[in-house]
Amino acid sequence: MKKSSEVRDELNAVSPSFCLAKWLQVTIHLQNGHTHSCHHPMTHKVSLDELAYDPSALHNTSEKKEYRKQMLEGTRPKECQYCWNIEDAHPDNLSDRTFKSADDWAYTRLGEISTAPWDRSVNPAYIEVSFGNECNFKCAYCAPHISSGLMTEYLKHGHYSGMPQFSLDNIRDLGQFPYSKDEHNPYVDAFWKWWPSASKDLKTFRITGGEPLLNPNTYRFFEFLRQNPMPDLSLAINSNLGIPRGTLDKFIREVKYITDHKLIKDFQFFTSVDTYGKNAEFIRFGLDYDEYMENVKLFLREVPQAQLIFMCTYNAFSVLNFRKFLDQVIELKRAHKNEWNYTKVFLDTPYLKDPRFLSCYVLTEDFWPVVRADLEYMKQFAVGDAPGDALFYEHEVSKFERILNWLENLEESMHRQGMRRTLYDFIQEYEDRKGIRFHDYCPEYAAFYELCKYS
Ligand code: SF4
Repeated sequence: MKKSSEVRDELNAVSPSFCLAKWLQVTIHLQNGHTHSCHHPMTHKVSLDELAYDPSALHNTSEKKEYRKQMLEGTRPKECQYCWNIEDAHPDNLSDRTFKSADDWAYTRLGEISTAPWDRSVNPAYIEVSFGNECNFKCAYCAPHISSGLMTEYLKHGHYSGMPQFSLDNIRDLGQFPYSKDEHNPYVDAFWKWWPSASKDLKTFRITGGEPLLNPNTYRFFEFLRQNPMPDLSLAINSNLGIPRGTLDKFIREVKYITDHKLIKDFQFFTSVDTYGKNAEFIRFGLDYDEYMENVKLFLREVPQAQLIFMCTYNAFSVLNFRKFLDQVIELKRAHKNEWNYTKVFLDTPYLKDPRFLSCYVLTEDFWPVVRADLEYMKQFAVGDAPGDALFYEHEVSKFERILNWLENLEESMHRQGMRRTLYDFIQEYEDRKGIRFHDYCPEYAAFYELCKYS
């Protein structure tokens, strides 16, 4: 494996703005025909005219080809500002331009991509797709074009006053209004037309949503796999794991079949939960926490070849009961190990950034010791003498540590106080719409709630 800095030099030899992800990685939102590569730039709409003669325009849009041309000529596409900011901060900094290009799925095609004409359509090596927005959850920080449950709520009540960016008018203006599951969706048609070709060079396929386990296209993909094994493919699927038992059983049967018969290289199951118990149920509305954990255990028992990754979007209501969640994760990590004694259960803790009033940004300094103690607790399980003794890996600990670093550097401000009041107003609307009481779900936050009320 090449060192990252060597890959950066090879990329720079093509051009200082060259990045393989622009050719080889794509995230496609079929519910509204939006696409981007990689996931950092804003999405843009795929033209139905382009799709009519080339279904690969789901990835090879004329807009993206322009950016590829810029990259080959040494011009930085504006949409990649995320990487330019990192690279400009220090000459030695490496951005995702290097890390993504250094990944196996990308690096092996460096020669092919750097010498091909800029306007040639290419098959991606990494596809992330959302087949639709069907979802039975109405999470506090989610949006109606991503969850059909929230869309129903927004059609009835409109947007939350603190979240004007998700107003249906705004979503419509941005071309992001989703097709409902009963409507004919030309983007889904185009995807399946493109798939025989798109799947040829594919190394990673990730299905996201909405809730992928509720979408028939997920099962259409399994059917394809049964007829067309892809032994080099890493498959990943996201789920809220809050689906009806019959649907879960069907999904487990499919995954068991494809892993038992080695139709793919490996399988990663990403499942979302942000903290423990009722606090988690408040923020991810629709979740039954105990049932969720039972579903996690069922999946791990039934599909022993899979890895399971908890995706915990750490937010304002993650903090006070996080230790109880950590204990359950530790227990699962210990109980589910591979033949070399390494755990197959992982924890990923990105932190919520938007909406800000639901993020840890609104919390006060007296919450920080709780976060710090949880970090120290994780570190206790990150050491060991024999292989597999350490239950948390360095990347899991450092990701959580990043949250504490961010919090400890926050300064008190009028803006934060204003966000607390926005949170209080949001909770009133949330209670009314959902027919619940905040204090039944988050009694530990009573003092903080009062603070928000008078902010
Ligand atoms: S330069 Fe950065 S933002 Fe742009 S495609 Fe590459 S990894 Fe993504």
